[in-house]
Amino acid sequence: MPPMRIVVCGAAGRMGRRICELARADRRFAVAAGVDSGDAARAAPGAAPLLTESQLDKAMPDVDALVDFSSAAASVRYAALAARTRTPIVVGTTGRDPAQEKALRAFGRETPLFVAANFSPGMTLLLHLSRLAAKALPLWDPAILEVHHAGKKDAPSGTALRLAESVEAGGGRAPSIASQRAGDIVGEHALLLAGPDERLELAHRAHSRDVFARGALEAALWLRGRPAGVYGMSELLGLPG
Ligand code: NAD
Repeated sequence: MPPMRIVVCGAAGRMGRRICELARADRRFAVAAGVDSGDAARAAPGAAPLLTESQLDKAMPDVDALVDFSSAAASVRYAALAARTRTPIVVGTTGRDPAQEKALRAFGRETPLFVAANFSPGMTLLLHLSRLAAKALPLWDPAILEVHHAGKKDAPSGTALRLAESVEAGGGRAPSIASQRAGDIVGEHALLLAGPDERLELAHRAHSRDVFARGALEAALWLRGRPAGVYGMSELLGLPG
């Protein structure tokens, strides 16, 4: 199988840089280009050319997949671009408003689209466990705490919102969500279910961005040859949706 030629959108960012580095060290991938905007682009690493958003259009016929960790608004535009050439796209950005989310997912009718607020297998399992816990303990009081680095733009995190959705999908009450931003913390989420005289805590801590970067690259490979549709981590890991 020839290497998958990927373009990383947001290539100069915290996640984009790591995805480029891991992909370059992995024979299954070839980083065809990176795309970035803003000042960070000047410091982008690596041998692959760094394109602007408007230059990407011309490069699309030679691209096997887009891996996007740019911004909520830009993700919708990259998905539109991918849909025009039926190119698979992996979207890792968070912070979309409902209209952006709807617009993004609509492109799944035209091209394979993988969307995940968190590419960690551990966190994906925690989402499932949270739904089970809420189903078993529907009257307990749920509360979520999420902690991230000071540079994170959205709050609550996309993962905390997915965690709240899992609790409600299990029949629990809508949890309160507390967000903290400090230092270089990669990402921590805890769900607390408080009952009479006891409490249950389910928690996940990411030790490094590599867990997300590796997950996004695996998602790109997993999309190869799939029909148009919207996919997520549950499908990749074979967990019930
Ligand atoms: P970051 O700010 O370090 O990087 C974002 C990069 O995107 C920057 O270099 C910026 O210049 C660039 N960018 C902005 N607009 C762009 C555009 N129109 N085209 C191309 N590039 C553009 O942020 P980060 O920490 O790397 O996170 C990026 C996104 O990924 C955020 O939404 C974050 O919440 C999300 N994230 C998701 C996961 C996950 O597992 N799904 C994990 C970590 C972060």
